[in-house]
Order: sequence, then C-alpha cells, then structure tokens
Amino acid sequence: MAEGILVIGEQQQGRLNRLSWEALAAAQQFGERLGQAVVAALVGKAIAAAAEELAGKKVAAVWCVEHDLLARYTLDSYTRALQQLISQLQPRFVFMPHTYQVRDFAPKLAAALRRGLVSDCIGYRLVGDQPIFVRMMFQGKINADVTFTGEAPHFVTFQAGAFRADAVVAADKPAPIQKAEVTLSAELIRTQPEEAFREAKQAVDLSQAEIIVAVGRGIKAQENVTLAGKLADLLGAQLAASRPVCDEGWLPMERQVGSSGQTVAPKLYFALGISGAIQHVVGMKGSRTIVAVNKDANAPIFEVADYGIVGDLFEVVPVLIEELEKAAAD
Ligand code: FAD
Repeated sequence: MAEGILVIGEQQQGRLNRLSWEALAAAQQFGERLGQAVVAALVGKAIAAAAEELAGKKVAAVWCVEHDLLARYTLDSYTRALQQLISQLQPRFVFMPHTYQVRDFAPKLAAALRRGLVSDCIGYRLVGDQPIFVRMMFQGKINADVTFTGEAPHFVTFQAGAFRADAVVAADKPAPIQKAEVTLSAELIRTQPEEAFREAKQAVDLSQAEIIVAVGRGIKAQENVTLAGKLADLLGAQLAASRPVCDEGWLPMERQVGSSGQTVAPKLYFALGISGAIQHVVGMKGSRTIVAVNKDANAPIFEVADYGIVGDLFEVVPVLIEELEKAAAD
C-alpha cells in the first residue's frame, strides 16, 4: 500500500531554492497531522551538498537521483527519472514546489503514472482523515477545495509563500542519504537545453530583500515615488510596487510584486497606498511583518497586515521619515 509523503526538491547548481523548503515545511506539517513519514528527493548531478542540507531536516530519508543526463533539466529526463523513483518508493503523496520547472514536468509525470495532480495549492485541510487541498481559481477571485479520487500517489504542488520556509523542522540526527538507481538513455531526450541566462542583466531580486517598501496607486504620481524611496533608503530597504505603478512606468516591471510579478518574503514589508488585491497579496503574504498605510479603513490589505495605519500616506510617510532621521542622528 502506498505510504508516506515524498517531497521533490528543486536545486540549481547544487542549491535548493526557497520554494523547495516551503514544500518541505508543507510536507512536515501535513505528515505530522496525517501520521505519514516524509522523505525527500533530489534530481540532478553533483547534488551531494544539497542532499546533505536536506538530510539535516526532519525527514526519514533523502533520495538522490543522480545521472549525467540529469545535469541540466530536461522534461524527458526528469520525468523518466522521477517516474522510476516514484514507482520504487510508492508514496501516498508527492509534494513539489510550484516553480516554472515543476509546472513543466509535473503534469507529464502525473499523467505518465496515470495519477491526479492538484497544482498551485495555497493550503490543505483535513476532514477526518480526508485531506482537502485548497487552490485559487479565476485569477484568485475564488478558492476551490479539491480532493483526490483514485489510487495514490497523489501529486500536489504548492504556491510560493503558501508555507513558510523557516518553519522547516531540523533533525536531531542527519537522515540517511540513499542513491536511487534509474535507467536513462540519450535517445529519450528530445530537447537540448543551452546555458541558462538572465534576460535583464541588472534585474532586481526582491526575493532576497530583508525589508521592502512597496507603493501602490495611492502614491498617485511618479514624482511622489521619491518619498517612498527616501523611506526605503533610511530603512535599507528595496523599493517595490503593485502592478498599476509598474504599468504606468513609475517603477520598472522588475519591481512588481504579485501573481504576475515577484514573490517576496522579507522580514518587513511596507505597503503604502496598496489596496490588497489578491493578485498582489499572493506575492507578499509570506512577509514576516506587514505594515500597511491606507486611507480606506476597509481596504483588504488590512486583513493581512500586522500593523495598520488608516491615514493619508502623504501625511504618514513624512512622519516616519522624520522619526527615522531623528533616530539615526541620536
Ligand atoms: P488600487 O486598487 O487602485 O488601490 C489603491 C489604494 O490606495 C486604495 O486602497 C486607496 O484607498 C489607497 N490610497 C489612495 N490614496 C491614498 C493615500 N493618499 N494614502 C493612503 N492610501 C491611499 N497586481 C499586483 O500588484 N501585482 C500583480 O502581480 C498583479 N497581477 C495581476 C494579474 C492578473 C491576471 C490580474 C487580472 C490582475 C493583476 N494585478 C496585480 C492587479 C490587481 O488585481 C490590482 O488591480 C492591483 O494590485 C491594485 O493595485 P493598487 O492596490 O496599487 O491600486
């Protein structure tokens, strides 16, 4: 009988991305509630260091699927390799982060095994022993509960920020690292990936920022963005924005936060004149502390804010700047 939860981590040049840790946190919490053991797997080449890092977390084992043909991601090689691993391990659930790579191979993998996939989940609930996965529909306007029917394994991917990477539980002693044997041949691979590159050389990686000051349409005009910039400078923060601000060209697109922008999880997120539309919130709700300034007391941003200031940002922000300048001078 299928048992346990297999978490498939995603590594690049031997480093696991944040979403993989979030998927592991989801699996640990889910496993704890359902009484299912968690095992992790990594696919690639030269992945020993990443495997060791994973083995330091509370997992029953880490499976390494290493092969020359897995050195660079291809849909065919990853699907074939994981299909074999999953057939060997027979987990009840397979959890994955909802990254571009997973979006590429997960449907093919689930279909190859003739199993169901619930993608881009924002959470789960248990009704008795029955897990229900929650996913957004219609651009986040409504949520849907989804249950699996049919045989395991059941495939689930989790949206960025749905779980906290820092909630991953560490192990008392390292988990065993196992090598999975898979058979792959070059003829199976129908695409040839070239060297990875960044489209915009000076692209800002907001996902690494510890503090973010984000502006919304409430900032009203491009010249007012400097006010938020001043606050950001004093806090050592990155500037970010909601979509309309970037659409207007007041800040570059690479600073957009949300479902069609970047997903961020700083320690501190200032939302200035941002209403809190779901497409924005999905990109920043993983922030540890959210401070919102909005003149509308009913703005949805206050539902996710830890601290809310109902007021005009053109009055509030100068006071914050003044206080920070005073503190810096002391
Ligand atoms: P508004 O909704 O116009 O809100 C402005 C807020 O400012 C209001 O709450 C108002 O009360 C407040 N305000 C006004 N003046 C002041 C003042 N002087 N002081 C204080 N507060 C003030 N949006 C994103 O942000 N990121 C995305 O990635 C994204 N992707 C999308 C993808 C799709 C497919 C779709 C359909 C939409 C997407 N959106 C995205 C747009 C999203 O639906 C909202 O329209 C957008 O987030 C609203 O931006 P906003 O809050 O800045 O503007």
